Amino acid sequence: MLADTVPKDFVESTPESIARALPALPDPVRMTASSAGPRRCAHHPERPAHALCVSCRTPLCRGCATPWEGIFLCAACLAARRAAAVRRGSVAGWIGLAAGLAAAALAATWMTAWVAALFAGLAG
Ligand SMILES: [Zn+2]
Ligand SMILES: [Zn+2]
Repeated sequence: MLADTVPKDFVESTPESIARALPALPDPVRMTASSAGPRRCAHHPERPAHALCVSCRTPLCRGCATPWEGIFLCAACLAARRAAAVRRGSVAGWIGLAAGLAAAALAATWMTAWVAALFAGLAG
């Protein structure tokens, strides 16, 4: 169940993956007569692309490419990663809380049994 909260591409988001993505920037497409021209930042058409978002492959300028844990992400993907990280953190927190409650319940049960035995002994 926990694995479902991890984005499918999360494992790929390593320095190796960005190393593979970066050399691809001088795209052969720019040599064609395409109206797109050289690859530009998706948010700033006047700026050349500096990096690709490793998650959605959006070309990003220096201002838009946000380094995060050694990789570049666009603002949207960065927000998604952060939200996922927060979710994973809260899941871990809930598991810890549940474990603590279980231990407390176990201790309470043991104490109840001990007190019951004590009173049974006194009554006997
Ligand atoms: Zn992205
Ligand atoms: Zn930009």
